[in-house]
Amino acid sequence: MIDLHTHSTASDGSCSPTELVELAHRARLSAVALTDHDTMGGLAEAKAAGARLGIEVIPGCELSVGEGKRSMHIVGLWLPEHPGALQARLDFVLEARASRNAKIVAKLRDLGIDITLAEIEAEAQGTVGRPHFAKVLVRKGAANSIQDAFDRLVGNDGKAYVPRVRLTPEEGIRLLSGEGAMPVLAHPYLYALSDADLDETVARFKSYGLEAIEAYYTEHSQAQTAFYKALAERHGLLVSGGSDFHGDPKPWCKIGIGRGSLRVPDAVLDAMKAHRRSRGQWV
Ligand code: AMP
Ligand code: ZN
Ligand code: FE
Ligand code: FE
Repeated sequence: MIDLHTHSTASDGSCSPTELVELAHRARLSAVALTDHDTMGGLAEAKAAGARLGIEVIPGCELSVGEGKRSMHIVGLWLPEHPGALQARLDFVLEARASRNAKIVAKLRDLGIDITLAEIEAEAQGTVGRPHFAKVLVRKGAANSIQDAFDRLVGNDGKAYVPRVRLTPEEGIRLLSGEGAMPVLAHPYLYALSDADLDETVARFKSYGLEAIEAYYTEHSQAQTAFYKALAERHGLLVSGGSDFHGDPKPWCKIGIGRGSLRVPDAVLDAMKAHRRSRGQWV
C-alpha cells in the first residue's frame, strides 16, 4: 500500500515531515509522497526521515492553478532536489500574494474598517489569505459571520476583493514537466465537471504534459475510482492515488487509508516507475 498525496507543516498539515513519514511507516506503507501546497520546503526533512526508517519517500508538491472561476490542483511527483524554475515561479506567486494582502487591507480601510496587516498576519500559521481576513473582520464586528465577510467584503463579489496571481493549469503542468516531475490531476471529483467537460479538460491537460489522474482518493467512492481509472485509460494516462492526509485539519482522514477504506496498491507506483524508466527518468 502507498499514499501519493499528503500534507505536512510545510503547508497546512499538522504533522512535521518527519512525523508524517513516521506515521506512514507505522501504517506499513511501502511508499509515501509528500505533496505540500505550493512549496517544497518539507522535502529534505521527509527524505532524511525516509532514509532513516527505510520507507520510500517520493518528493512532490501540489500546485494550485486556475482558469477563470475554476481552481484546480496539480500534484507533481519526483521533484528534483533543486527545482530552479519552479521554485522561482512559486516565490513570485508568494510575493504577489503578500502585496495582494496589503491591497485588501487598503480597500477595507477605505471602507472605514479599522484593520491592519499585522492583525491579519497574527491570525495565520503559514500562508496569509482571505479566510484570515474573514476571521478578523468577524472578531471586529465588521461582519456578522465568515460567510458575511466573504459575501460583502473579501469574497469574489465583495467590495474589498482583490484577485490573486495564479498559475494557469498549462503553466503549472509545464513547470512540473520541465523539472522532470510527473504531473497528476488531483481529486478530479472536486471540479464537478460534466463528462464532456472532463474529457475536454483531460485531453487539453495531456497536451500540456499531464501524465496521470488521481483515481484513488479519500472522497472517491469505488464507482468513482473505477470511473477515473477508465478515464485515465481512455486518455492513455497513468493512475495515481492518495489520501490528502493533513492531520488535525482533517481528523477523519488517516494516512494511507483515508476514511478507512482507501487502498492504493503498490502496482500504481510500479506502473509509474516503469513509465519513468522507459523515458530515462530517475525513480
Ligand atoms: P485566498 O487563497 O486568500 O484567495 O483564499 C481562498 C480561500 O478562501 C479558499 O480556500 C476558501 O477556504 C475561502 N473562501 C473563498 N470563498 C469563500 C466563500 N464564499 N465563503 C467561505 N470561504 C471562502
Ligand atoms: Zn491543504
Ligand atoms: Fe488539493
Ligand atoms: Fe492536497
